[in-house]
Amino acid sequence: MNRKELYKFLEFLSQQHIVYAPQKDGANLVIEEVIDSHNVVLSSEIPLHSFKKYLVPAKETLFKFDKDKIDEGINSPNQVIFGLTTPDLKAVTLLNQVFKKDPYYQERKKKSLIVGHSLVPKQKYHFFIEKFEEHTLEHLEFDIFLAVKGQNFIVYTGSEDGQRILDDFGYKTYEHIQFAGYIKEEGPDEQMLKINEAMKQGSYMDKLWQDLGKICIECGKCTMVCPVCFCFDVVDQASAEPGTGERKRCWASCFYTDFSEIAGPKTFGEKPKFLQNTAQRIHFWYEHKFVRLPDEIKLAGCVGCGRCTKVCPVGIDIKKNIQKILKVKRIK
Ligand code: SF4
Ligand code: SF4
Repeated sequence: MNRKELYKFLEFLSQQHIVYAPQKDGANLVIEEVIDSHNVVLSSEIPLHSFKKYLVPAKETLFKFDKDKIDEGINSPNQVIFGLTTPDLKAVTLLNQVFKKDPYYQERKKKSLIVGHSLVPKQKYHFFIEKFEEHTLEHLEFDIFLAVKGQNFIVYTGSEDGQRILDDFGYKTYEHIQFAGYIKEEGPDEQMLKINEAMKQGSYMDKLWQDLGKICIECGKCTMVCPVCFCFDVVDQASAEPGTGERKRCWASCFYTDFSEIAGPKTFGEKPKFLQNTAQRIHFWYEHKFVRLPDEIKLAGCVGCGRCTKVCPVGIDIKKNIQKILKVKRIK
């Protein structure tokens, strides 16, 4: 597919879908709705804010209630999330696992067409990122993938929806990739296993967590931009009419003090929490990504996109911290 055909394809997609794609917003690249397909930027730069909000909205109504009646109307538009780099495709693949049994996510995913590309991020913040090779596609979940070749693209499909939409567009020269599961034949990622093992040697008393706990200001920005941070709160919001209201789900951050509140009597006027201080909170975040998720689903809760480092107001750098974790020694 050449660039001219690509713009035509974007316009074709826009006829029946809302299309979100990377576009410039000042100095940043962001994924926003496409109004003019010529503004779409396909580059090796990872957009600052990820695609996550289009699959897991920052705030969504799960259902409305009116006395004993429940309205569970799941209503999501047909959408295309266009121009994801391979780290973001890995993040989609992980979210698909995590929300496998979630009807809201599944409905949104059914109505979403995911289009990735092969340009490999090169900036200093990134890590875990491999050179693009065709065989890696069979372990990623996507609908259409554009592998850059000179000025053109080799087109792959990863789903029947991807094939159908290309057929409807009249583009026949694509190759289909059969999804072979998200774990490679040789087993889970070796780097992830090393970090997992090193993390299990540490504790809240490790110097790394204490040091990070002194500088982190618990703003939660890292969790908001992370494409694979998926924790959420569920709140019931009553409306003025008695017996009516709605249940909402909204993004949460384990850096916020109320995240770990649990039932029980207050101590010194405070509700009991299972995370007592910043050092424990930041440790919990890393533990979730490199211990609990790998143990549960054999995937790291981090795809190495570097967004958290880029937005952290106090300069906490996950790449450097992983290097330290791999060397960490327990304090006696
Ligand atoms: S680098 Fe940071 S933002 Fe990116 S996936 Fe890992 S934890 Fe999330
Ligand atoms: S962005 Fe930085 S300061 Fe803010 S919560 Fe994350 S690690 Fe802490």
